[in-house]
Amino acid sequence: MEPILFLNLERENKRFASEFKEAASRVIDSGWYILGKEKEKFEKEFAAYCGAIHCIGVGNGLDAIRLILTGYMELGLMQEGDEVIVPANSFIATALAVSQCGLKPIFVDCDVNTFNIDPSSVAKKVNSRTKAIVAVHLYGRIAAMDELKVIARQYDLKLIEDAAQAHGAVYQGGRAGNLADAAAFSFYPVKNLGALGDAGAVTTNDDHLAEIVRALSNYGSDDKYIHKYKGLNSRLDEIQAAILSVRLRFLDQDNKRRIEIAHYYSEHIKNPQIVLPQADNEGSHVFHLYVIRSSQREKLQQYLLANGIHTQIHYPLSIHKQEAYSNLKNISIPVAEWLQKEVLSLPLYPSLTNEEIHRIVTALDQFA
Ligand SMILES: *Cc1c(COP(=O)(O)O)cnc(C)c1O
Repeated sequence: MEPILFLNLERENKRFASEFKEAASRVIDSGWYILGKEKEKFEKEFAAYCGAIHCIGVGNGLDAIRLILTGYMELGLMQEGDEVIVPANSFIATALAVSQCGLKPIFVDCDVNTFNIDPSSVAKKVNSRTKAIVAVHLYGRIAAMDELKVIARQYDLKLIEDAAQAHGAVYQGGRAGNLADAAAFSFYPVKNLGALGDAGAVTTNDDHLAEIVRALSNYGSDDKYIHKYKGLNSRLDEIQAAILSVRLRFLDQDNKRRIEIAHYYSEHIKNPQIVLPQADNEGSHVFHLYVIRSSQREKLQQYLLANGIHTQIHYPLSIHKQEAYSNLKNISIPVAEWLQKEVLSLPLYPSLTNEEIHRIVTALDQFA
């Protein structure tokens, strides 16, 4: 039997091959590769899709977060040494962006049921140096934005979405990218909305922030060779923008398929050794990942592999336990540290066939 890959990107992208080739050819033939019409077009489309006023295409998701924070620093709303609250259970980019801006990431724990940042832990960490909260919509599930907004408003903090895993997720009628002061997206190829290389975006309804982020992403310049800020070079290029315009048309359909597969897993996996992700209101989880838990995680992963089913672990080590943050190795963030020993991500992507999904469920149900 063919192995079931954790993610079969070749198969995923084959679905759009002819449209991708047409888009890439159009850019190649145009003779214009950076800061052109394709980027402008995708920015308009993605802003409209998210319901946000502004979208700025940037180089990647890490830069998207850095550019938002740097923008706020340029606006005088935060300065070096200020604190930004981030979840310990996330991809390291969330914290690195904070550190690279000269700000201090303050790690907080997650909710055991949603895996997302726990608002009550956030409230405990707020002090006079706290300037922002980065809420990650982990695995595709929108964080507890209502409660986080209350905290942000009470202490006058900026609330930033790290929406790198949640393109298209809907929360109380609004979409990821329009649920806070600003949002960062990654279009890294494996994301729900993936390019064919590195790419990212910032969305916001804040005119001042949008203007600064746009300039910062292009050497701090909004007028050729006139540099207002010490900016970066982090621009969404024309080929990636053209590819993303194709993919965006299929995002809702792809997310619908992801949700369908997730519901199938949740209904059919029945094994006392396995804890399924907590059910969620329709739409606010777009299942970038389907993450189960098991106290027998290593054995389960080996067993699945022996049955031709590839899985991954997101994430094996919380950020505060990484060598990059060795200065923090003595702090304790119990839920995140416990989850990292038990979590296992199953294959879940739109081009998985019903037969493959069936095989995965059957294998899981037979694990003893
Ligand atoms: C992928 C990801 C990022 C970083 O995106 P890149 O485009 O790889 O820089 C940031 N945060 C989260 C939660 C991610 O999953």
